[in-house]
Amino acid sequence: MQYGLVHVAAGDLLRAEIASGSENGRRAREYMEQGQLVPDEIVVMMVKERLLQPDSKEKGWLLDGYPRSSSQAIALKELGFKPDLFILLEVPEEILVERVVGRRLDPITGKIYHLKYSRPETQEIVSRLTQRFDDTEEKVKLRLNTHHQNVEAVLSMYEDITIKVDGSVNKEDVFTQIDGALTQLLDKRQATSESLAA
Ligand code: AMP
Repeated sequence: MQYGLVHVAAGDLLRAEIASGSENGRRAREYMEQGQLVPDEIVVMMVKERLLQPDSKEKGWLLDGYPRSSSQAIALKELGFKPDLFILLEVPEEILVERVVGRRLDPITGKIYHLKYSRPETQEIVSRLTQRFDDTEEKVKLRLNTHHQNVEAVLSMYEDITIKVDGSVNKEDVFTQIDGALTQLLDKRQATSESLAA
C-alpha cells in the first residue's frame, strides 16, 4: 500500500474469524447477517490484537470500518491508540448501494472488483468471483440504518482531525483527495520535527 501503512479492516478481521470456524466467528455472523454491529467484546479485542502486531506498530495503520460507535472510539483511546486523521468519505446513498451490490471478490488474489466500474481482466477471473453474503440490496439497507444510528456520535469524537472527502467520484479522484490531506499532514509533521531539532 502507498505510505506503507498496514490496512486493518474490522470487517475483514471478522470475515477471517468466521472462516476459521470459531465460536466468536459464529456469533459475529449472526449480527453481520442482520447488518448490526458485532458486540464490542469481539470487535475491540480483534482490532486491539491486530494493532499490537509488530508490523502495525512499526509502519503505522489505516483503520477501516472502526470505530463504528462511541464505545468503540472510547475503547480505542483507552487502549492508547491515537489516530492522526479521520477521513470521512461522503457518498450519496444510491451510489453506495450500487457499488455494494455490484462488488465482487476474487478469492485467489483477494482483489475487489465491480461488475460495472472495475471489471475483471479475464473471463477466468469472472468465473471464480464471489460475493459477500451481506452485499445484497436488502442487507446494505440494514447496514445503512445502523450507520445512521451511530455516525454522529463517532464524528463528534474526531471533529478536530476530520477531513471530508467526496467519495462519489472515481477511485483515482478519491485517492487524489486523500493523498493531498496525507501529504499535508506529513509535511506539517516534518516541519515540526525539524523545528524541534533546530
Ligand atoms: P464491512 O466489511 O466494514 O462492510 O463490515 C461488514 C459487517 O461486519 C458490518 O455490517 C458489521 O456487522 C460488522 N462490522 C464491521 N466492522 C465492525 C465494527 N467496527 N463494529 C461492529 N461490527 C462491525
